[in-house]
Amino acid sequence: MRPHRAYVPQIEDELWIEGREAAHLLRVLRARPGDRLTLFDGQGQEAQARVVAVESGRLRVRVEARYSASREPLAPVTLYLALLKGEKLVDVVRMGTELGASRFVLLVSRRAVAKAIRPQKLERLRRVAVAAAKQSGRTRLPEVQGPIPVAQVPAVEQGLLAHPNAGARVAEVHDPTRPVALAVGPEGGFTAEEVDLLVARGFTPVTLGTRTLRAETAACALLALVTAGSGR
Ligand code: SAM
Repeated sequence: MRPHRAYVPQIEDELWIEGREAAHLLRVLRARPGDRLTLFDGQGQEAQARVVAVESGRLRVRVEARYSASREPLAPVTLYLALLKGEKLVDVVRMGTELGASRFVLLVSRRAVAKAIRPQKLERLRRVAVAAAKQSGRTRLPEVQGPIPVAQVPAVEQGLLAHPNAGARVAEVHDPTRPVALAVGPEGGFTAEEVDLLVARGFTPVTLGTRTLRAETAACALLALVTAGSGR
């Protein structure tokens, strides 16, 4: 059986795993002294480690081998995503982390149903990213940032804006060797002014097909085309 993966902010020769991570390892995965674990620090380092003690709901682990590992896209992928209601952001962060997004930046946009996000929800999105990184074998943790107004999206080196009726297809315009920013609108779509602004900041409108996708579907489809679609 493959060793369980655990996230630790810093890999040291011996360390304690505490809090939620320890609770998951002990209660759900039933980790015990002698078990092997794969540790990752969310910044590109991995380690093979062994549990040497369990005490008061925490685990002491000893690192046996430490190395750099990358299962990342060729270049960073930032997803600018309009605030969505309900559990949709959770779904996008979970699947987007699996698909290799490096950063999620939430946007406040005119036609969005949700206009704000509670700090607790942002924290939950970050925990979802950790869980998805663990599950998918990522070695880098994506950041979850924002929300910022659409007007504050910076100029980008390469940008793709998911836009119904756009002429270009992703494969025609995307260069996977350069950092890319993706933008996906809210349930009601971006306004014409928001589209113009994003185009002025370097985003090229791209189509995701002839059907109207839900925003969360569009976000994952666009991510899949730029990461999985290029074999990364
Ligand atoms: N009537 C809205 C419009 O015209 O923009 C539909 C919004 S759609 C539910 C939510 C977001 O998903 C859009 O803002 C866009 O970013 C993306 N999207 C949905 N379907 C798409 C498609 N076929 N091609 C490109 N982007 C799409």
